[in-house]
Amino acid sequence: MDRLLEKATRQHTKDHNSQLVLRTIYDSNAISRAELARLTRLTRTTISDVVAQLIERGLVEEIGHGRSSGGRLPILLRVIDDSRHLIGINLLDGELLGATINLRGMIQQRAGRALQRRDAENVLALTYELIDELVERATRPLLGIGISTPGLMDTSAEVVRRAVNFGWQDLHLKALLQARYQLPVYMGNLAHMAALAEYTTCAGQKRKNLVVIHISQGIGAGIILDGELFHGDAYGAGEIGHAVVVEGGQLCNCGNYGCLETVADSRAIVRRVQELARAAQTWQLDQSAPDLVRIDFERTVQAFQAGDHIVTQVVDEVGRYLGIAAAQLVSILNIERIVITGPVARFGQPLRAVIERELLKRALPTLAQTTEIVVVEEQPDTILLGISALLLNHELGLIRLAPRRVIHDT
Ligand SMILES: [Zn+2]
Repeated sequence: MDRLLEKATRQHTKDHNSQLVLRTIYDSNAISRAELARLTRLTRTTISDVVAQLIERGLVEEIGHGRSSGGRLPILLRVIDDSRHLIGINLLDGELLGATINLRGMIQQRAGRALQRRDAENVLALTYELIDELVERATRPLLGIGISTPGLMDTSAEVVRRAVNFGWQDLHLKALLQARYQLPVYMGNLAHMAALAEYTTCAGQKRKNLVVIHISQGIGAGIILDGELFHGDAYGAGEIGHAVVVEGGQLCNCGNYGCLETVADSRAIVRRVQELARAAQTWQLDQSAPDLVRIDFERTVQAFQAGDHIVTQVVDEVGRYLGIAAAQLVSILNIERIVITGPVARFGQPLRAVIERELLKRALPTLAQTTEIVVVEEQPDTILLGISALLLNHELGLIRLAPRRVIHDT
C-alpha cells in the first residue's frame, strides 16, 4: 500500500475507534474499560490507549470504582458534559437567538438580537455581534458553531443559495463565519434541525426513520432515514413547501404558482382568515375592533381555540393540503411516523385529524393505516437542540443512533 495512504488509513481507524469509544461512554453514563472492550469489540490495549487520549483531551474522566464481578474493582469512566461547549444560532424571522450549549444539549448561556431588517448585510452584522458576545462569555473550549438558516443551501451546505423570504442570493455564510472565528461551522434549515431535535429526544429514539414537517413562515420537511438526516443530492430533500398543490394558485416567492406554502404556512393562514372575515364581514373575537389588519397569527390561534367558524374552516383547508404532502411522503418513503411541528402545530389535534383523514384518501390504505401523524407543539429551544445534535454528531460522533460499522484493530 502507498505509504501516505497507509498512514491516512491508520489515522482514520484511530479517529473512528476514538469516536466509537467516546460515544459508548457517552451513551452509558458510567462504564469500565472491560465493559467498553466488550461493547465495542476492540482489544483491551486499544481501549486503554484511546481512553488515555480522551482523558488527556479532557473529554472523559475517571469517577471511582464500580462493582466487581470477582477480582479487581473496575474504574468507571464518564464523559465530562461541560468539557466543551458549542454555539448555536437560530435565525428566525424577527430575531436571532443564540446560546452556548454543552455536550448533553443543555443550554448554558443565552443571547439574542432583534432583526429590524432582513437583508444579508444587516443579518450578517448582527450574527457577528451575537457570536462575538457568546464567544466572549464562553467558559469552556468551543467545539464549533451551528446555525439554522432559512432557505435552500448548496450541495455542501456552505452557501445559502436562495432564501426567498429573506431575499438572499448566494450568501457564503459558512466561509465567512469560519474565517472570522476559526471554528468548525455547520448550517442547516429549520426543518432539518427540527427533525434532528425530534429524533434525539425520547419520542424519536425508538425509530430509525422519521419525517418532521416544520410549518412556520415557510414549510419544509426533515427526513431521517436509517438514523441519518437525509439531504438529497443537493441539500434539497424535504423542500415540500414549494411543491405545487393548487393549479393556477397564488404567486409564490419562489416564482411558481400555488406552492404548498402559499396555502398552508402561517402567513397563508392569516391571509385566508382575513379574506374570509372580510367576505363575511365578521370576526367573532374582534367586535370592538373590526380592523382586519389586527388579525395576526396569534389572534388566529386564539380564535380557533374559542371555536371561531372562519378559522375552523381555514384549518380544515390547511389540513387537507398538508394531507396531500403527507400522502406523497408516505407513498415514496413508507415512514410510519410523521411529526407536524412549528407554530402551525398550535392548531393541535383538529389539524392532525384532517391530515390523517386526507392521507387515508390519498395513499395506499395499508400504508396510510400504519402511519402515525403526530402534532408536536414546538418548544422554544427545539431548533437549538437540533443544531447541537448536528454539531455533536459531526464533531464528536455523538447522538447518532443508527448502528455503525465497527472497524476492528489493525
Ligand atoms: Zn414556491
